[in-house]
Amino acid sequence: MTSKQIRQKFLEFFQSKQHTIVPSAPIVLKDDPTLMFSNSGMTQFKNFFLGYKDPENKRVADTQKCLRVSGKHNDLDDVGKDTYHHTMFEMLGNWSFGDYFKKEAIAWAWELLTEVYKIPKEYLYVTIFEGDDKEGLIRDSEAFNYWKEHISEDRILLGNKKDNFWEMGDTGPCGPSSEIHVDIRSKEEKEKIDGKTLVNKDHPQVIEIWNLVFMEFLRKADGSLDKLPKQNVDTGMGFERLCMVLQGKTSNYDTDVFTPLIQKIESISGYIYGNNAEKDIAIRVIVDHIRAIAFSIADGQLPSNSGAGYVIRRILRRAIGYAFRFLEVKDPILYTLIPVLKEQMGEFFPEIEKQEHLIKEVIKEEETNFLKTIDQGLVRLSNFMKSHKDLKIIPGDVIFELYDTYGFPSDLSRIIAEEKGLTVDEQGFISEMKKQKQRSKSASTFKNYDWVVLEEDQQEEFVGYDFIKTQIKITQYRKV
Ligand code: ATP
Ligand code: MG
Ligand code: MG
Ligand code: MG
Repeated sequence: MTSKQIRQKFLEFFQSKQHTIVPSAPIVLKDDPTLMFSNSGMTQFKNFFLGYKDPENKRVADTQKCLRVSGKHNDLDDVGKDTYHHTMFEMLGNWSFGDYFKKEAIAWAWELLTEVYKIPKEYLYVTIFEGDDKEGLIRDSEAFNYWKEHISEDRILLGNKKDNFWEMGDTGPCGPSSEIHVDIRSKEEKEKIDGKTLVNKDHPQVIEIWNLVFMEFLRKADGSLDKLPKQNVDTGMGFERLCMVLQGKTSNYDTDVFTPLIQKIESISGYIYGNNAEKDIAIRVIVDHIRAIAFSIADGQLPSNSGAGYVIRRILRRAIGYAFRFLEVKDPILYTLIPVLKEQMGEFFPEIEKQEHLIKEVIKEEETNFLKTIDQGLVRLSNFMKSHKDLKIIPGDVIFELYDTYGFPSDLSRIIAEEKGLTVDEQGFISEMKKQKQRSKSASTFKNYDWVVLEEDQQEEFVGYDFIKTQIKITQYRKV
């Protein structure tokens, strides 16, 4: 099944269960002061759950463009290094706004996976909330009992509050969740280690594909829970992960969502994917990031020096940096991936097709400018080294100034220093970074929830990141 068919089947399935299919909300949020990007399918339905608005339809399904580069959901660190976390991905979802609940949500998820998509039952595990005595939260035996109708008991695993209890924030709707995991390891591997011991353990072939959230309670300001008058279902399934399973692959990047982009990068750079660990990471980062950038621009967010635009600029620069460093690409090339992406996604997401020209132009210009920055940084650094021939350690403030004032990535400074047999004063660099952070530090801390209610004059700010070898260091958002 092609990825297009897989997406279509999902929507058709829920349509057949009386769901209304709605379009994805934009990936960039302009009307939500608490969040810059859609980071899950439910973002656009938040007001229904909070009771601020009444839904037109009680059953809805869609695929939502998500971006996870900030706040609670920041996967940037894993992207490229692993094979199943992306910055931008599609989240397939079905919703019940005060309509059906656990029984149907579980039965339909099972029917879709095992009967429509025909995933072998012995590939699947499910988790349910185990309860939490301290919090007075009881085990989700309802979910357990409904699952028992479909799957053998030893494949139903108990999960803790971190993995299996969802809360919107300090207050608001919350409830237990039930996740579906797949084990796509080879038969031999499965015989060696029991799959259930690998669930939620970051194994690249034992991964979560679908999360079913049952909104049952309302968390009040004093921390206590009330039963919600109307219960909701919110589910999210990773589309690229589903494609991996259905196309018999062991990496999202080997599915037809990514292979055309990878082939294009191969033809530009001359490197064949799959032969060198470092270069493979670079290729994965590039084909991942180009999607995030293209969809953000298509939804109206141009790269800039503040807010969401800064995040996009940083992601783009990260991709350029990887191409420059690991694939030795010295000219603007990322923009040439856009026609490939359009072929791939344009039919379902017409914004990519409509905005193709703009997306290409914006990326090309950013590439040209950033490559110039890199060139200038190289000259400055080499001048510094020439005029300080006796120095064995490059002072941290020099590296910091190159980074902060000229936008020159500090990891490049490090690599160049190493090539000349020099080292970098890491402590000095870190302390300069800390000083900079101190300068604009806020008294408040960032809460780890999907939504954070920011107080009036506060806003989210992307502080930036800096890449070090293949290890990406990210400074996340903080309140300012
Ligand atoms: P994981 O534990 O793998 O990080 P999650 O629990 O953070 O996933 P949810 O917030 O439950 O993910 O999102 C619902 C689904 O979206 C997941 O089951 C997964 O299939 C998919 N998903 C989550 N994060 C990503 C990502 N960064 N890239 C691709 N798919 C993702
Ligand atoms: Mg996650
Ligand atoms: Mg998870
Ligand atoms: Mg989850």
